[in-house]
Amino acid sequence: MSAKILKIAVPVPLYKCFDYLVPDGHNKTIIAGTRALVQFGKRQLIGIVISEESSSEVPANKLRAVKQLLDEPLPSELLNFLQWAASYYQYPLGEALNHALPALLRQVEQKQALASVWQLTETGTQQNADDLTRAPRQAELLRQLQQHKKGMDKAQLDKLDFNWRDSLRALEKKDWVKRLSQREASALIQATPLLSEKPLLNDEQKHCVDKVSASLDQFQAFLLEGITGSGKTEVYLHLVEQVLLKQEQSLILVPEINLTPQLISRFEERFSVPIAVLHSGLNHSQRLLAWQQARDNQVQIIIGTRSALFTPLAKPGLIIIDEEHDGSYKQQDNFRYHARDLALVRAKRLNIPLLMGSATPSLESLLNSQQGRYELLKLTQRAGKANPPKLQLIDVRRKPMQEGLSDYLVDLIKQTLAQKSQVLLFLNRRGYAPALLCHDCGWVMPCLRCDAKLTYHHHKQLMRCHHCGHETRPPKQCPECSCEELINIGIGTERLEKYLNSIFPDANISRIDSDTTSRKGSLDKKLAEAHSGEADILIGTQMLAKGHDFPHVTLVGILDVDSSLFSSDFRAPEFMAQQLIQVAGRAGRAEKPGQVIIQTHHPEHPLLQTLLHKGYNAFAQSALTEREEAAFPPYSALALLRAEATQAYLPTKFLEQAFERLSPCQPNIELFGPFPSPMERRAGRYRHQLLIQASSRAALQQCMNKIIPELNTLPDANKVRWSIDIDPQSMF
Ligand code: ADP
Ligand code: ZN
Ligand code: ZN
Repeated sequence: MSAKILKIAVPVPLYKCFDYLVPDGHNKTIIAGTRALVQFGKRQLIGIVISEESSSEVPANKLRAVKQLLDEPLPSELLNFLQWAASYYQYPLGEALNHALPALLRQVEQKQALASVWQLTETGTQQNADDLTRAPRQAELLRQLQQHKKGMDKAQLDKLDFNWRDSLRALEKKDWVKRLSQREASALIQATPLLSEKPLLNDEQKHCVDKVSASLDQFQAFLLEGITGSGKTEVYLHLVEQVLLKQEQSLILVPEINLTPQLISRFEERFSVPIAVLHSGLNHSQRLLAWQQARDNQVQIIIGTRSALFTPLAKPGLIIIDEEHDGSYKQQDNFRYHARDLALVRAKRLNIPLLMGSATPSLESLLNSQQGRYELLKLTQRAGKANPPKLQLIDVRRKPMQEGLSDYLVDLIKQTLAQKSQVLLFLNRRGYAPALLCHDCGWVMPCLRCDAKLTYHHHKQLMRCHHCGHETRPPKQCPECSCEELINIGIGTERLEKYLNSIFPDANISRIDSDTTSRKGSLDKKLAEAHSGEADILIGTQMLAKGHDFPHVTLVGILDVDSSLFSSDFRAPEFMAQQLIQVAGRAGRAEKPGQVIIQTHHPEHPLLQTLLHKGYNAFAQSALTEREEAAFPPYSALALLRAEATQAYLPTKFLEQAFERLSPCQPNIELFGPFPSPMERRAGRYRHQLLIQASSRAALQQCMNKIIPELNTLPDANKVRWSIDIDPQSMF
C-alpha cells in the first residue's frame, strides 16, 4: 500500500515538520498551505501542510491520520515567504506560520463564524424615522442604522441605552432590516475609487512619484529621504492612487497605528474605497475579515503595523514602509523578524516595488542606497509654507536649573505662551523621579527582582520597576541606616508636569506618556487637544516623537540628551540622532517658524556638533565610518544567542555548550562571550548572552542553519530559556 504522507508544520518550538497520514476517504490532492487539525501528543493543534510525500521514516504503525482538513488555506505565496522568513530568523516553522495566521484560524475550538451585522434594506433606507411616532425606540434604531450604512454589529447596538433586540425584530418583520455576515456586509460597500481633491505636487515630489511609477511592474527598492513635513505622505498617496487605478493593492506599514491617526485619516479622506486598518483594537473576527478581504482582493489598501506584512495579497502592487528607521519594525520576542528587511524579500518575490520613507533613514538603508541596491529619492524642502526649525544647543554646565529646566528655557516658554503658541517638552523618562536615595548613606532603592532602580510615581504614591512591573510603597526610612531623609533624585515627566503647573498656573499642561494614556481613548483625546491648540504645553516621552504634526508648536525643548550620549550599545548614537531630529521636526509645521532647544552638559560632543551644524546626513556618514572601522553592522552580520534561568549558573553553562558547538564554524564566524546581559537579572531571572559575528549575512546564515536547530539537544538546553536573535537591534 502506498499511503500518502503529509509533512505538517505544527506550532511547537521544534525545528522540524511532522508526518501524518491523509484522512480516510480523502483522495484529492492536498495543496501546501492547507490547515490541518492534528493530534500532537495529548493536544489537538492546527498545523499547516507543507508537502505531500510518498514515504515516511516513521514506522507505519506509529503514523496517525490528520483528524480534519480545514478550509481557509494559507496562500502559497505567503507560505513560501514565511518559510523563507522562519529559516532566516532561525525560528521554528510551525510557530512562525502560526504567528502569521489570524487568531481565529489557529484556534481549535473556536470555529465560530464571523459575527453578524444588521443593515437596512432598500425599503428601510427610504423610511422616515419621524413617522414612527408610536415606536420611539424603533425610530431611534432606524436613525442609527441610517447613519451606519455599513451596518451595525452587536457591540455597536449594545451602546444604545435600551433593549434593542425587540425593536430590531420589529424592523426585521417590516423587512426594513436584514441580517448579514460581516463579510457580506463589507462586500456590498465596494466602490470605485473616487479620488478627492489633491494638491499639485512640487517638482521634487513629482520626480519621486515618476520614478516609482516607472517601476510599478517590477521589483525595485526605493529609499525616500525627506525631512519632516516635506510631503512624503503626499507622495505615498499619489502612488497608491496609481496602484488603485491598476486595480492592484498597496500595503502600507507604519510604526504604531495609534500614533498615526493623521496618516490613516488622510488615506480615508483621499480614497473612497474600503481600507483595511490592522490595529490592536480589532477583535478576532474583524482581523480575520481583513485577512480574507485582502486575500480576495476586496480591499486594495491595507495599513498596519509590522505584522501586517503577513497579510495575503491577491493583487499586490506596492509596499510602502513609513518611518523605515523605526525600531518597532523589529519584533523583540518570539519570532524576532524585522519587517523592513522582510518587506524587501517579499517585494522581490512578488516582483513589485518597495518604497521606504524617512526623515532620518537607518544606517542600513543609507548604506544600501550608497551601494546602489536602493534607489535614493530626496525631498529637501518643506511642502507648503513651513520653514525648517532652528536647532540650538544650550550649555547647562554650572547654570542654575530648576527641576531639569534652565532659566533660558523657562524664559522662552514664557515668551511662547505669551504669543499664544504651543510648547513641546521632550523627556524620555516617565514617572516622578527615577531613583530614591538615602541622604545619609547613599542607599538607592533597588528592584528586588531586577538589577534596576525603582522609579517613584507620585500620583499613585508607589515605587515601580519599569522593567518587570514590580510595585511597592516607598519606605519611611532607609533600611540600611534608618535615616528618614529619603530624597527623590532625577526628573521624570510627572515631576516636570508638577513643576510647570506651579510656575505656569494658567497654562493648560498635557502630559503624554504611557502612564497617562493607558486608558482606552485617552491618547486620542490628548492628541486632539494637542492638535487643536487647546493644550499650551505638551510634555512627552518618545510617544510624541513619532509621526505627529502639531501645527501650533513653535518651541521644542529637549531636556536631557546627555544620557544617550554615553550608552554602551553601538546603535545608541543612531537612535539618539533619529529621535532628536524627529522631535525637532514636530516644531513649526504650519506657517509659524519653530525653535528647538537642546539642553546638554556636553555641548562639544562631536555627535551633537555634527548633527547640529552639518545635519543628519553628515552625522550618518560619520557614524557609518565608525561602524566600518569597528566592523559592526551594516558592515558585518550579528546574531545574539540569549539564555536565561532562575539559577545564576545555568545560562552560562548552556552558552558554553553552545560555544563548543559553534566553534567549528570559526573562522567564518567570531564568537564573543558568553557574558552577562547589560541588565543581568530581570524579573527574577539571570540572563547571559553569546554574540556571534560574521563578515556577511550569508556567512552567518550558513553557520546558523547548521547549528541552531541542534541547540535543543545540548545537555542543559531544557534547563534554560534560550532564543536566537538574528540581526539584533538591541543588545539587551
Ligand atoms: P511628511 O509626510 O513628509 O511629513 P506631509 O505629506 O505630511 O509630509 O506634508 C506636510 C504638509 O504639507 C501636509 O499638511 C500636506 O498636506 C502639505 N503638502 C504636502 N505636499 C504638498 C503640496 N505639493 N502642495 C501643498 N501642500 C502640500
Ligand atoms: Zn541610609
Ligand atoms: Zn524589576
